[in-house]
Amino acid sequence: MSKNAVVIGGGIIGLCTAMALSRRGIEATVIEADSAHRAASWGNAGHVAIEQVEPLASWPMIRSAPRRLFSAGGALALPIRDAAKWLPFALRMAGAAGRVQAGRAALDPLLAGAMPAWRELVASLDQRSWLKETGHYVLWESAASAAAGLDAWRRADTGTARFRPIDDEERAQLASLLARPPAGGIRFENTGQVADLKGLARVLEENLCSAGGTIRTARVTALAVEDDTARAVLEGGEQVTADLVVVSAGVRSGALMRSIGVHAPIIAERGYHLHARRSDWPDLPPLVFEDRSMIVTRFDDGLRAASFVELGDVDSPPDPRKWQRLRTHVSALGLPIGADAVEWMGARPTLPDYIPAIGRSRRAANLLYAFGHQHLGLTLAPITAGLVAAMATGAPAPLDLAPYDIERFAKGR
Ligand SMILES: Cc1cc2nc3c(=O)[nH]c(=O)nc-3n(C[C@H](O)[C@H](O)[C@H](O)COP(=O)(O)OP(=O)(O)OC[C@H]3O[C@@H](n4cnc5c(N)ncnc54)[C@H](O)[C@@H]3O)c2cc1C
Repeated sequence: MSKNAVVIGGGIIGLCTAMALSRRGIEATVIEADSAHRAASWGNAGHVAIEQVEPLASWPMIRSAPRRLFSAGGALALPIRDAAKWLPFALRMAGAAGRVQAGRAALDPLLAGAMPAWRELVASLDQRSWLKETGHYVLWESAASAAAGLDAWRRADTGTARFRPIDDEERAQLASLLARPPAGGIRFENTGQVADLKGLARVLEENLCSAGGTIRTARVTALAVEDDTARAVLEGGEQVTADLVVVSAGVRSGALMRSIGVHAPIIAERGYHLHARRSDWPDLPPLVFEDRSMIVTRFDDGLRAASFVELGDVDSPPDPRKWQRLRTHVSALGLPIGADAVEWMGARPTLPDYIPAIGRSRRAANLLYAFGHQHLGLTLAPITAGLVAAMATGAPAPLDLAPYDIERFAKGR
């Protein structure tokens, strides 16, 4: 039985995993490079998106790319400077599009278990009010996009999520708040939202420390394997050993896995947000403005508009045109997000088939991994943590982990 674990990366996946391990009696040390909580885990849209069962690696998605480009007014950016990153990714994504059924089958059980796992997590943290299970809206601004959008959602696999057209009362409330009343909309009824992401980070860290865990600020530069045992190598050369090493470093997990010869072709799918700290916006569930590919979420500490899928290098500088575009959208919609809104950019960790990597490595008996959660890392963090904890303790896996094996990319995928 493992007594201790090193968890590399203290984003939502790493912290939830460390908590789950410590609750099972395994002393967990999280090694986190950035104590300022700037990662995607804390800058995302807060949506518990159990409806997103259709993998984004699909032919309709790829075919629609030209009209979704930033240059055409859309949210997809393929910067020329980062072509060496996104070209090979796009080719692999096209390959994965031929396996869309398998992708759906892989995401479906994770998303079906996501909300129960979230309920359990917030109850264990004594923060039930942070999980709002009040659904979300999807809105359209023209009759044509409303008809097409509704039709697309009706044909989509939405797993356990349910939706219905918005009713008159909802339509009137939205019309009173927005400069452009929606031409149509649907209300998902049982999706959710996390109300305070920074608060969640703080409470997870506090709970971990009071359960005997540790948060250590340091950067892991590589993994090393000897005698079937993995170690984390820190900047400066120190090597950290433990009964278990868990890689959950978001988009930087690819480089760590590469250091021991594992091919994990992860890309930074960069997104941007504007966050207005104070706002008199009512306590509404998240609003997805589908024509603009933008989600607007009311958090406990303000109102956030998020958008963009910019495929590229995690370390490339942000593109200020993305914030300008967000400002154009919020002003066109009359949203109370003003000039003083905080600008943020962060990276979704995405594998070409849009399926996360969760498993035990074949390169070292003590090496587990959980990364590549793409647009769904917040949604899937508690269930992922439960799966890693089951592996760590030898408990029967609640579901078949074969689809999440990172070695699927060893076959040239
Ligand atoms: C604009 C936007 C909106 C989003 N909205 C949603 C949403 O509504 N719902 C949803 O479910 N998901 C959403 N996502 C996706 C979600 O945020 C990610 O899937 C999730 O944050 C991934 O979590 P993670 O812990 O794997 O990675 P990260 O959040 O990137 O955390 C990884 C951590 O590891 C640390 N780290 C990295 N390398 C090292 C190293 N070598 N040594 C030590 N530490 C290291 C980093 O500093 C970081 O803190 C959104 C993402 C974006 C960008």
